[in-house]
Amino acid sequence: MIIDTHSHCYWDSIEPRIDAIVENMQQAQVSHAIQIGCDIKTSEQAIDLARRFPGIFYATVGFHPETAQDMKFEGEVIEKFERLLLENRDVIVAIGETGFDYHYLTPEIESVQKKNQEQWWLIQWELAQKYDLPLVIHTRDARNETIEFMIEHDIYRAVIHCYSEDPEFAQKLMDFSSEIYFAFGGILTYKKSELVQETAKMLPLNRILLETDAPFLSPQVVRGTINEPAYTRHIFDRLCELRSEDPGEIEETIYQNSLKFYGIK
Ligand SMILES: [Zn+2]
Repeated sequence: MIIDTHSHCYWDSIEPRIDAIVENMQQAQVSHAIQIGCDIKTSEQAIDLARRFPGIFYATVGFHPETAQDMKFEGEVIEKFERLLLENRDVIVAIGETGFDYHYLTPEIESVQKKNQEQWWLIQWELAQKYDLPLVIHTRDARNETIEFMIEHDIYRAVIHCYSEDPEFAQKLMDFSSEIYFAFGGILTYKKSELVQETAKMLPLNRILLETDAPFLSPQVVRGTINEPAYTRHIFDRLCELRSEDPGEIEETIYQNSLKFYGIK
């Protein structure tokens, strides 16, 4: 069994086919798929999926940095967010995705947007600690800022989702905390992703997770199609080619990592 630790199955391109999506997961022996929230609305949709498919889908609640950069830091929104978390604590397994994304900043208001991303990240980390949950981190075009921020604010319990950096980035975070995990998705299967593949070879197996980020970033063998949790299998296959352990051991270790990280019994 494997687990898709990060997907967005509430998207219009997937949700209408959700029964088939779940069937495909079962055929591919993908036991669970964590549904990741990116704002209040999608967090509610993630929770809804977790309620409709108990024990298969779980949810996270979060503000994606791309959303957060243009959101005022307001008490009212934070209260609403915390209420959502409290009312659905039974199906929520993490906070996020949060983090830094400097890809879509607007030059004239860049400093405000960066500040917003920081504030929304910190409040999510505070809530994660308050409710004893791990954090899901997205980082894009902000590698040094991400590492510095995590160390400065002691953000020690998290997953770097959709890993797209190099071995050095992972090593720095491993040196900082033993509770940081690294989730590999479709990027691992692309020919050009040599540094990501190097990282997947170098990391201890007990720090690795798998994910699809569906409906985005389909693995190479199905590239051009809409991604879905069952395709975690293709990412697993690529990881097995890169690692020296036997596939049974890889599968079991990563399965246990996923259950442990998200606190799934
Ligand atoms: Zn995502």
